[in-house]
Amino acid sequence: MTELNAAGTTEHDVVVVGGAFAGLSAATYLARARRTVCVMDTRRPRNRFADAAHGVLGFDGTAPVDILARARTQVAAYPTVRWREREAVRVEPQGDRFAVTLDDGEVHMARKVVLAFGLRDELPDIPGLPERWGHSVLHCPYCHGFEFADRELGVLYRMPSSAHHARLVAEWGPVTLYLNGATLDAQLRNELTAHGVSVVAEHLVSLEGPGQTLTHVELANGTQRRLEALYVAPESCLASPIAAQLGVALDHTPLGPIIRTDAHKQTSVPGVYAAGDIARAPHSVSWAVADGVTAATAVHRALIGM
Ligand SMILES: Cc1cc2nc3c(=O)[nH]c(=O)nc-3n(C[C@H](O)[C@H](O)[C@H](O)COP(=O)(O)OP(=O)(O)OC[C@H]3O[C@@H](n4cnc5c(N)ncnc54)[C@H](O)[C@@H]3O)c2cc1C
Repeated sequence: MTELNAAGTTEHDVVVVGGAFAGLSAATYLARARRTVCVMDTRRPRNRFADAAHGVLGFDGTAPVDILARARTQVAAYPTVRWREREAVRVEPQGDRFAVTLDDGEVHMARKVVLAFGLRDELPDIPGLPERWGHSVLHCPYCHGFEFADRELGVLYRMPSSAHHARLVAEWGPVTLYLNGATLDAQLRNELTAHGVSVVAEHLVSLEGPGQTLTHVELANGTQRRLEALYVAPESCLASPIAAQLGVALDHTPLGPIIRTDAHKQTSVPGVYAAGDIARAPHSVSWAVADGVTAATAVHRALIGM
């Protein structure tokens, strides 16, 4: 499917770059305001590795691809929506409009642009870790903690906030903080121990278990430890170079850069809005959907001069 709407126009009120949770949410609101909107999407949502999304109202435990397929069908039912299943490679201001170029060279013109292209995660290069991402290697206990409650849990040390992450994960079960060669000052170590968090200093050699499940880890000192879920804060980068091309201001968080926006999700470039993971921390489907609503209502008001 490359288009959901037969209309072949390349002139729109709004182009939305990225058609997953934030982008489809923005497109829904704009379509309901009877605005012409073109959604461009490469179908690589950040949580595509997970079998189920949790904590999403009405869709708890549903596969992310199924939630998005349903949302795409609903958005497509609006007559002013056009869908291009292609990568947007360039967004350029041209007078009071923007030219958005797709990877096949097609150019779409829009009065406003909503960026919703998500983040790309960089995972630690530990054997057995990347293939378990979204299954037994997880980013967030609120999203994937309940399913592992009271089992052997771990947190991989990535940055000073990993110690707080370990304390949080301890709410779901017995947890070990794997320092993987990093050091921890004695006071923090004592605090963690007092809260029931074990600390292991050795490097992790590999994650082991059948398929994408995890049963234990192998440590550099030759020992094994039982482990059923490992929480890892990924380093993330913006999934598209469009933000850099446009020169939008960024904020730098411990987990990577995000696009700076005001309360209406407008970036530092007037007329360009950003929603979802690229424009906030922390991250979740529900927050991305809410951002899409904020951006869309702000865009609509800007279009009518309010
Ligand atoms: C493993 C994992 C599991 C998770 N589980 C949960 C969970 O259970 N519950 C929860 O609430 N949250 C979960 N999250 C967080 C959730 O995935 C994100 O918060 C959410 O996907 C953000 O939505 P988004 O629309 O901002 O970005 P994304 O979902 O990443 O969507 C971005 C879209 O833009 C497209 N795109 C990128 N570049 C371009 C371009 N140049 N042109 C056109 N299209 C482009 C992509 O293909 C993609 O479809 C999880 C995250 C991970 C990593």
